[in-house]
Amino acid sequence: MSLFAAVEATPNDPIFGLTDKFNRDTDPHKVNLGVGMYQDDDGRVPLLESVRIAEERLARAAKPATYPPMDGLPDYNADAQRVVFGADSEAVASGRVVTGQSLGGTGGLTLAADVYGSVSPNHKALVSTPTWANHIAIMRHAGYDVGKYAYYDGRTGVDIDGLLSDLSGAEPGTMVIMHECCHNPTGYDLTRSQWDAVTEAVRQRGLMLLIDMAYQGFSQGLDEDAETIRRLAAAGLTFMVSSSFSKNFSLYGERVGAVHFVCADADEAARVRTRVKTAAREDYSTPPLHGAQVVRTVLQDEQLRDTWTDEVSTMRERIKKMRTGLVDGLRAAGVTDMDFINDQAGMFSYSGLDKAQMEELRAVHHVYGTDAGRICVAALNSRNIDHVVAAIAAVRG
Ligand code: PMP
Repeated sequence: MSLFAAVEATPNDPIFGLTDKFNRDTDPHKVNLGVGMYQDDDGRVPLLESVRIAEERLARAAKPATYPPMDGLPDYNADAQRVVFGADSEAVASGRVVTGQSLGGTGGLTLAADVYGSVSPNHKALVSTPTWANHIAIMRHAGYDVGKYAYYDGRTGVDIDGLLSDLSGAEPGTMVIMHECCHNPTGYDLTRSQWDAVTEAVRQRGLMLLIDMAYQGFSQGLDEDAETIRRLAAAGLTFMVSSSFSKNFSLYGERVGAVHFVCADADEAARVRTRVKTAAREDYSTPPLHGAQVVRTVLQDEQLRDTWTDEVSTMRERIKKMRTGLVDGLRAAGVTDMDFINDQAGMFSYSGLDKAQMEELRAVHHVYGTDAGRICVAALNSRNIDHVVAAIAAVRG
């Protein structure tokens, strides 16, 4: 008898299950709006020009792949810090920000959970309702008891009163995971004054913020999207950030991200750094080299960095164009109550369609989004948008 005999299969991940169904669909008009990758107007995940040039340079100067430090390549970490905190950050200059290279944003969340886990008084974490499902899974896996705070108001915005009330009822020391921008799955972000109120609640209750920034540059701009993190750092809050280059470098499979701990002072930061190294060593020893070398090559060359910044703008503007295109198309088709899509940001949109309507979209129109009504705006393009508009208008009756 096999000792694996008792292994039970994990239930199908709803998003991957959706892709399976999409792949089996033979209709030529099918559209997959369930994906989590940005696509260009040809429906392809782009290879950025900045990345292509960096890859060529790296190939010409090929070197053996020795082990990097456990917390990653130091100059990659410094570059990641600059992208997240800005070039003139007092917190970085004073040595109180610890940055470690991570396996994408997912790995950044894991390292943050591990490091804070060594001092968390209650091993409790709070996530938004709803959130990216892996927030819950990662925190449970790291030993946290996961609860939820109110976020989506069920209509067209954020339930700020519910959110603040949940934060002020949280136990001191609880970790609170918040999306910096481009909230996944709803597309609704906090305004600056709402962030101020959240910061006040976090300070008053003594909570530990973990800010997840997976989509920097996809809402307003690379600097604009990191505004909250920069303001919190300048205000002297101690908190954690997980940042990712998966989306804004279109380097999904290379696993390039970073975790940042904004500490009280350089001495605290030095101790935290030892914890980051230990957490990495016990999990995977050292991070992969290649993606970090690509990102570092781009960020250290002024011209390549400008090319990259332009490419991020192009991706952001295309998403916005698809958003307005969807809203305008729906209006023209007689659906006049979905303008709220223009208030959302990033790759995703909560469409407000219910499960039955999402099922009808798939079954009748071959348009695939999640049962909760999430659609990936970044998968719309000039060839499929009319079909999607007509399909949504039809299910809306
Ligand atoms: N956080 C959020 C909110 C995400 O949507 C994602 C990716 N879907 C991640 C983190 C993880 O990104 P990465 O691929 O860099 O691990």
